[in-house]
Amino acid sequence: MQKGNIGVSTENIFPIIKKYLYSDHEIFLRELISNAVDATQKLKTFASVGEFKGELGDTTIRVSIDEKKNTITISDRGVGMTAEEIEKYINQLAFSGANDFLEKYKKDANAIIGHFGLGFYSSFMVSKKVEIITRSFRDDAQPVKWSCDGSTEFTIEDAKKEERGTDIILYIDDENKNFVDKNEISKLLKKYCRFLPVEIAFGKKTEWKDGKEVEIDEDNVINETNPLWTRKPADLKDEDYQKFYRDLYPMSDDPLFNIHLNVDYPFNLTGVLYFPKIKSNIEIQKNKIQLYCNQVYVTDSVEGIVPEFLTLLHGVLDSPDIPLNVSRSYLQSDSNVKKISSHITKKVADRLEEIFKADRKIFEEKWDDLKLFIEYGMLTDEKFYDRASKFALLKNTEGKYFTFEEYKEIVKTNQTDKDAQLVYLYSTNKDDQYTFIEAAKAKGYDVLLMDGHFDSHFVNHVEQKFEKTRFVRVDSDVVDKLIPKDEQHEMKLSAEQKENLTSVFSSQVPQLAKSHFLVSFEAMGETDTPVMITQQEFMRRMKEM
Ligand code: ADP
Ligand code: MG
Repeated sequence: MQKGNIGVSTENIFPIIKKYLYSDHEIFLRELISNAVDATQKLKTFASVGEFKGELGDTTIRVSIDEKKNTITISDRGVGMTAEEIEKYINQLAFSGANDFLEKYKKDANAIIGHFGLGFYSSFMVSKKVEIITRSFRDDAQPVKWSCDGSTEFTIEDAKKEERGTDIILYIDDENKNFVDKNEISKLLKKYCRFLPVEIAFGKKTEWKDGKEVEIDEDNVINETNPLWTRKPADLKDEDYQKFYRDLYPMSDDPLFNIHLNVDYPFNLTGVLYFPKIKSNIEIQKNKIQLYCNQVYVTDSVEGIVPEFLTLLHGVLDSPDIPLNVSRSYLQSDSNVKKISSHITKKVADRLEEIFKADRKIFEEKWDDLKLFIEYGMLTDEKFYDRASKFALLKNTEGKYFTFEEYKEIVKTNQTDKDAQLVYLYSTNKDDQYTFIEAAKAKGYDVLLMDGHFDSHFVNHVEQKFEKTRFVRVDSDVVDKLIPKDEQHEMKLSAEQKENLTSVFSSQVPQLAKSHFLVSFEAMGETDTPVMITQQEFMRRMKEM
């Protein structure tokens, strides 16, 4: 038996690992299973280049618990380690073997999960002792057992092990006994390992027989090794995307659209994003996108990685190029992350434009649901605004849809005010503003419906973007001053009659004066509405602020 000390200046590192490195103790399982996956993938790479000539055989990774001994064991049939490799990769803390491997096999680099080098040591967050029993895939390798009780001292000795691969045995400490539980481990496996590329088995499958649950001789495989986003879009049907969505979000309505991302230059990114159907009156939920790194679940908080407005989307992003285990503020300044973020925006815009061009009818049918995302994006992201202004739609009070360009043509023909500005009339509530809408229509004007969540901001925003344009609510005083192309309505009341009527109205409805409402009898023409009470657009917006 050999004894030694881990690394050089490690004295103070363990407490740091225990307390600060990962706030969540549960990720020890993710780290150890990731290592087992890496070891298996490495062996497959060696096999493909002829460096390993044996049988791969069953490469299932097995997780088991022993409630009596308080242990959790993770076993793989990957590359295994020799005593020298343990010395190099385990003893020299934070010296990641992954780096060595990456240097040598750059093209397969993306199949390797570990980047950080402290993964294995996260096992000490929950264990009083950790053992590694391992046998390298190389011929005649001597199996070894490494053992460490969480101090900087370890032992290493020859061991007996028939098969290649590695068993990691965790002796769970008293504070973390809750992890030695079937349900708990099942839950964690489902969270972190559900889409890992190597089969992972937790115990055996069970069946109900004579009212009792009995084990059958079949591995209980907990993961799907080829999740949808890793497959080629050409091989997938709409139903596949819908099914995957239902797997991820069992309680949700079917999504509106999906976007399959597949980038390999200048960074790696795959994933599927969905525009969810938002149920009315339910608060909009952010952070439903799951972030993976080579199919290992990392987080569902993607703020800082995708643009703010896309945090409303659902789905999966997978990238080995997003730095993990680092702070949010670092993420936001990382140039790779910035590139990824703007790329995703571009892809989302591309896809929407594609659907718009290919099938305008479908696009219009879904617009009312889509609108929220697109308007939010246009409000918060200049680049997205520029792209989306090609397919963003305006809806009028009759339920017809127009692009910005199309609608401009309609306004040009008659909705111009005295300063020759185009005037876009809009209603924020079809019922409340019914008479105003009808009056405007009677004059031949079109009225937009702007009753959405972000519409009051959106109106302000596009007003600044459009040239020589004003947005005016249909119940404002401006409507009277618009110049109808063909006819000018004649005033039917004398100046004196008007004044008298105005004072009658003001005395009967006192809040009119206070809130700058105006009473007008002008230009109503032959409509059913002889009198209108309007408000200056400016004053109304002032009050809304
Ligand atoms: P990383 O995964 O980032 O390289 P870890 O601390 O998780 O860092 O692991 C350190 C190294 O230990 C790995 O790079 C690998 O060389 C070795 N290792 C860990 N677990 C296994 C395993 N199950 N099989 C073979 N080698 C392993
Ligand atoms: Mg690792």
